[in-house]
Amino acid sequence: MAENPDAPDGRDAMLAERRAMVETIVREVGWSKIGDGSPELDPRVLEALVRVPRERFVSSDLRAEAYDNRPLPIGHDQTISQPLIVAVMTHLLHLEPDARVLEVGTGSGYQCAILAELAALVLTIEVVAELAADARARLEALGYRNIEFHLGDGAAGWPAAAPYDAILVAAAGRSVPPALLEQLKPGGRLVIPIGTDAFSQDLVLVEKDRDGRTHRRALFPVAFVPLRSAPPAGP
Ligand code: SAH
Repeated sequence: MAENPDAPDGRDAMLAERRAMVETIVREVGWSKIGDGSPELDPRVLEALVRVPRERFVSSDLRAEAYDNRPLPIGHDQTISQPLIVAVMTHLLHLEPDARVLEVGTGSGYQCAILAELAALVLTIEVVAELAADARARLEALGYRNIEFHLGDGAAGWPAAAPYDAILVAAAGRSVPPALLEQLKPGGRLVIPIGTDAFSQDLVLVEKDRDGRTHRRALFPVAFVPLRSAPPAGP
């Protein structure tokens, strides 16, 4: 669980802002619906959003905006996802406390922290080395011990630790990478933005049934950066 070293006296200066952010999310979900038929978000997801200090995942000049319900730049042309989308994608995975989760696109590490609050183990893969290193340092400083960090092309998943109860892809693909479908457990759930448009894709939920058959549903439009292929190996 996150400990906030900015508040050594136990006082958390940003708690009120975090609660306000969660109230905004609850209101927006009430208007827009989640797309999977749930009337509201899992309260465990909302509690995780109240615990994780989002201001620690953005640069110091953006801290005042950390609790606005919108994406923010994190460098390398990438963004930390909008809190509403983080909440809904996490909700859609139906995580149990013993879940093993694969995340593609560590970015700032914020979504990863939310997953780590709710699951037993999170394996996260990032293709940009600097982002991966920063996220790792940040999440370790916050006290997370149930995250494994990997550098590479997340479209290939991480077969060594498969299968996963849940897979979250935080960058848009043209289709669902077959390796990820293979690495999903029967009964597992995968969320991924799918589309070719740089500004609008569909958030797709894939459920694998007990017999290993997959069922897909496009839920609502989202805007994610595209999945990149891995850079060529160095000399
Ligand atoms: N979940 C992140 C935001 C992710 S933005 C957060 O909460 O901050 C998308 C991230 O996916 C970026 O960091 C980008 O570098 C990464 N990415 C893009 N293509 C990838 C790939 N093929 N494998 C792994 N990571 C990838």
